[in-house]
Amino acid sequence: MGKKSFAEKLKGLFSGKKYDREFFEELTDSLIEGDVGARTAFEISDILEERSKKKHLSKEDEILLELKSILLEYVKEAELFPDAEKNNIWMVLGVNGVGKTTSVAKLGKYFKSAVENTVLAAADTFRAAAIEQLSTHGSNLGIRVVSHQHGSDPAAVVFDAASACFSKGSGLVLTDTAGRLHNKENLVRELQKIDRICTEKADEGFFKRILVLDATTGQNAFRQAEVFNEAVGVDAIILTKYDSTAKGGLLVSIGKELSVPTAFVCDGEKYDSIKKFDSEKYVDEFLGL
Ligand code: GDP
Repeated sequence: MGKKSFAEKLKGLFSGKKYDREFFEELTDSLIEGDVGARTAFEISDILEERSKKKHLSKEDEILLELKSILLEYVKEAELFPDAEKNNIWMVLGVNGVGKTTSVAKLGKYFKSAVENTVLAAADTFRAAAIEQLSTHGSNLGIRVVSHQHGSDPAAVVFDAASACFSKGSGLVLTDTAGRLHNKENLVRELQKIDRICTEKADEGFFKRILVLDATTGQNAFRQAEVFNEAVGVDAIILTKYDSTAKGGLLVSIGKELSVPTAFVCDGEKYDSIKKFDSEKYVDEFLGL
């Protein structure tokens, strides 16, 4: 289903309807179908029903706009920008295949002109191809990459990348990480070790933990957000593969239940396919407004 047809279906639900119990039940089902988690979907429908009664809303547009305002209260937006005068480290997290390595490269290109001293750290030492991939991105983009051998200690890679970067003054280290969620305890231990290095090397407040989520994976992505948020804490999300999904409800439940904001959206494989997240645009697309 294309992005448009899901939004059209959701919007179609509102036309020529009596806004009764049955309508709000159908709306709950549609929200769940659109990747809003069940708990949040029920809550949204209840609030919308209550507010519609209280405000005597009866027209299609009025109800849709009320729904939009509820969704906007839930979806959270973060402004992330490195400070060229500081030691910034951004640790990019996520399970295999979500688009972490690609996102590190995209961020590098995005911020290269603002922070000339940018270094990419190939700290996904578990997946051999990730090191190669990042090195290729670095040479394509003219950005320095620090890497060690396959299988080496990722925390040591981050340590070296931070030393290389900050020995020249302030700058930005963008670090890839491995994402073996099936071995959760090891992953958490490894991430916490990297986390300690980053906390030590970055200026206070300039170490960011950024989680990459694949928009096509719906409630699995929600679960990943919960796990990473518990393990190390997540400052912001990058939503990838938004070009390949019909539904955008995921960020509604993540904002509501985990209070984690989104900073960037990626909609393709090219280096330029990354945009600052705009919650209003996102909600409008979800509702077909
Ligand atoms: P990692 O295992 O998390 O590091 O994932 P990769 O960065 O290797 O990406 C996995 C695949 O997803 C690659 O084929 C990427 O080109 C692709 N990919 C990453 N981001 C996007 C995106 O926003 N849209 C699309 N269509 N593909 C993406």
